[in-house]
Order: sequence, then structure tokens, then C-alpha cells
Amino acid sequence: MVERIPQHRHCPSCGKAFTGKDTYCSDVCQQDKEGEVKGRKRQLLMLWGLSAVVLIIALLAVM
Ligand SMILES: [Zn+2]
Repeated sequence: MVERIPQHRHCPSCGKAFTGKDTYCSDVCQQDKEGEVKGRKRQLLMLWGLSAVVLIIALLAVM
């Protein structure tokens, strides 16, 4: 007798195996992951802003 493993995927947020067509196992995980991506984007934007400020200060110091 062969035991068949049902079609399943792993949640990118919590890593749990689940069945279904969704990317995440639950709405909570989806929101968590989306929040994480948004936070990372904001972090990148802040880094760019900081670099611009430092560049402007450096230019002003040279002049
Ligand atoms: Zn999950």
C-alpha cells in the first residue's frame, strides 16, 4: 500500500506546510509578510534619504 502525500506547499511566512491554492497558510501570515516587505522598502528609502543628506552636507563643506 502506498501512502500518498497530498499536494501541499510551504508558507513563505511561517514555513508551515498547508494545502490550498493560496500563497500563505493564513491571512495573518500574508499580512505579516506584506508588512515586512513594506518595512524593508521604508528602510531602503530612509537609507537613500540619509545618503542624499550626507552628500549635500559634504558638498556644502567643500564650497
Ligand atoms: Zn503561515
